[in-house]
Amino acid sequence: MSSRCVDCSGAIEGEAVLVNGRLHHPQHFRCSTCKLVVQNYYYLDGEQNPTCESCWQRKNPTCKKCRRFVNETFIVAMNQTWHLNCFLCSACGKPFPGGRFVDCHGEPYDLDCFWGLQLRKFNHL
Ligand SMILES: [Zn+2]
Ligand SMILES: [Zn+2]
Ligand SMILES: [Zn+2]
Ligand SMILES: [Zn+2]
Repeated sequence: MSSRCVDCSGAIEGEAVLVNGRLHHPQHFRCSTCKLVVQNYYYLDGEQNPTCESCWQRKNPTCKKCRRFVNETFIVAMNQTWHLNCFLCSACGKPFPGGRFVDCHGEPYDLDCFWGLQLRKFNHL
């Protein structure tokens, strides 16, 4: 019985990638989402479909603060995703009272710290 690539149906001699019981030529091993050839690293989704790193990150956003995947409850703020425990004031490291924050150069600040920074800047002028 000869092994065949699920992508091109060609016979496989030598190197092959075996994922989810299916064989691929290494150069025909594709991401199930973008269909591009997986270069080095892949993940398997719930249906065991190979997913390349960039598609995986698009589906599973990472926390802006700690850079780990957010898979539990998370906050979307300032076009970024954050763990609940990572969305803190950049100055004092405390959670935001009432969820109110100010976006200052891509970093969230609570109102007290934000105005504190503004005053400090103002005093330097
Ligand atoms: Zn092939
Ligand atoms: Zn992909
Ligand atoms: Zn985080
Ligand atoms: Zn603060």
